[in-house]
Amino acid sequence: MYDPKSRKAEEFIHHGEIMDTLAYADAHKTDAVLIGSILEKAKLRKGLSHREASVLLACELEDKNQEIYALAKQIKRDFYGDRIVMFAPLYLSNYCVNGCLYCPYHAKNKHIPRKKLTQDEIRAEVIALQDMGHKRLAIEAGEDPVNNPLEYILESIKTIYSIKHKNGAIRRVNVNIAATTVENYRKLKEAGIGTYILFQETYHKEGYEQLHPTGPKSDYAYHTEAHDRAMDGGIDDVGLGVLFGLERYRYEFAGLLMHAEHLEAVHGVGPHTISVPRVCPADDIDPGAFDNGISDEIFEKIVACIRVAVPYTGMIISTRESQKVRERVLDLGISQISGGSRTSVGGYVEKEPDEASSAQFDVSDTRTLDQVVRWLMELGYVPSFCTACYREGRTGDRFMSLCKAGQIQNCCLPNALMTLKEYLEDYAAPETKAVGERVIARQQEFITNPKVKAIVAERLQKIAQGERDFRF
Ligand code: SF4
Ligand code: SF4
Repeated sequence: MYDPKSRKAEEFIHHGEIMDTLAYADAHKTDAVLIGSILEKAKLRKGLSHREASVLLACELEDKNQEIYALAKQIKRDFYGDRIVMFAPLYLSNYCVNGCLYCPYHAKNKHIPRKKLTQDEIRAEVIALQDMGHKRLAIEAGEDPVNNPLEYILESIKTIYSIKHKNGAIRRVNVNIAATTVENYRKLKEAGIGTYILFQETYHKEGYEQLHPTGPKSDYAYHTEAHDRAMDGGIDDVGLGVLFGLERYRYEFAGLLMHAEHLEAVHGVGPHTISVPRVCPADDIDPGAFDNGISDEIFEKIVACIRVAVPYTGMIISTRESQKVRERVLDLGISQISGGSRTSVGGYVEKEPDEASSAQFDVSDTRTLDQVVRWLMELGYVPSFCTACYREGRTGDRFMSLCKAGQIQNCCLPNALMTLKEYLEDYAAPETKAVGERVIARQQEFITNPKVKAIVAERLQKIAQGERDFRF
């Protein structure tokens, strides 16, 4: 039976409920009255159920689709303003014992070079990342209890936080590692991680089992229930994601929202972020081998519908996507993007020759962080290197209640401007700096509280004089 409060994967991601939802969405895809009423509900900005959101995703009425896009843009604007949070992935190790058919790190791929960074190599990578201007990382590692045990991950996190190179610092480390035990999640929490991110890949159990024929990840329930264990271990910011292209996208979309509803029902707080990667080319991987690939148009609609369904959840897009696609979806709902990313192990220090690449996937957007920052500003966005909430203890339900009360935005814009100023002072090219100074001057006017506005003006001056790390 479908039960969002159940702790069993097959009950909170219930196949029958998803199939009923898809049939319901199909039956109503041209029902202007129902779609209109769902849109009215969405305008209240309190979110939608998986069933309601699935109807929007299936909607075939052009005028209603335009309304969905317009509402997504408006919600994005209301909740996130012009800000886009920047981060970079850091690949620690590509040793992996799993057999995921869509990933080049699968254990049977014998021609990909296997690498695991030593602590010294991590230091070098982090210095390279700090020198680009990054403050927020997502660490990635394959699952391998011998090569990448939890102790290695914990030691690596400690190393990353300890490095203070020039004015650089990594202030938030998010972690994307395999499903593990409550006890291990507790250790990650103690190590000071930000968000624990785990992609479901696909919510379709049968499809999941075929795509994961071997290794610990082949256990659908253990994987799907991992976020619950993470929350039991005290990690209150967790990130969801599916790999679009593996299964039918409407199935995945419904599953993703059911997962969010489940976390809210059980833990009182939904996911902190949702990531929307698509299958893309990589060593030993041909995206054409997966017949559920989605077009850019459908991808955009998914982003818009997620934005409308879960307004408080940050949405992340990776460097897999081209500049063109990124530009479009930033407008529709994405709130975090990576910049200057390398998806190979050790790739920030040394660029690998293509024929010996240890990369997890091919990067479509190959621009540097500075180019991405400048591009964002020229589009009217404010790139933000803010990590304040986690450092101020604003996580989990505390964070969500501030979001829902609309108060978090009083912190976001000032923090975005101050961290952007740090970036401009320490890392930007002269042209980027010139564009950025204009952005800051313009955006300061949008700070409504006069007291906060005055504090920000003073702190911006102090940053220009060399002080760092102010936050609200
Ligand atoms: S997706 Fe993750 S678990 Fe699967 S093979 Fe790749 S690195 Fe390993
Ligand atoms: S203040 Fe909090 S929510 Fe806003 S950008 Fe910073 S970390 Fe994110």
